[in-house]
Amino acid sequence: MTENRIIQCAECKGYFDVLEEGLQRIELAKEKGWGMMLFNCPKCGEQTSWHRLKEMYSDTTLLNLEKVNKPIVEIDNTLLPKGYFDFLLNNKNAKIRVSKNRDEFNLFTAEELFTTISVDKKEYLIVYKLQGFLKTLLEVGVELKEKEVLLLENSLSIGDENGDVLFIDKREENSKLYIFYPDGGDIENTKLTLNSVME
Ligand SMILES: [Zn+2]
Repeated sequence: MTENRIIQCAECKGYFDVLEEGLQRIELAKEKGWGMMLFNCPKCGEQTSWHRLKEMYSDTTLLNLEKVNKPIVEIDNTLLPKGYFDFLLNNKNAKIRVSKNRDEFNLFTAEELFTTISVDKKEYLIVYKLQGFLKTLLEVGVELKEKEVLLLENSLSIGDENGDVLFIDKREENSKLYIFYPDGGDIENTKLTLNSVME
């Protein structure tokens, strides 16, 4: 009897032991010439397949590995004002119109805020993406006022529209909404505040 009885789930990439019963099913599949067999992954509950070419493992330490597709970063629900966080959880496709002459901004969902993106080959959480833009602006020698640097350093990005970024200043109570224009690095103050998003 083979020692290799561990397979990797295609869904969650976790490893699990197919146990005696699973091995028998695989033996049967081989005998009958079936191409594949489905297993329920005990780690994520999804179905994953064994097939003729699927590698099987004997190393039981694989079983102790954490699932590798868990969110890279956990959602920090204290980073944004609590009311706003609750608002996001209840409004999945929230938008805000900041002025008459431009399209609505899409607001990032709670999950999106804590997803990583790459800005000039460095990883940032979306909520901190302007810190990435700031770094690039400074590196390429764009002249920014000290006030602007501080504002971007303290920014929390909350939405976007056609590449422009809507953000708040984490130092402000009920922060104004600002727009950052990646071409050129200009910052615009809007007349709105974070509370107006939730109205
Ligand atoms: Zn799985």
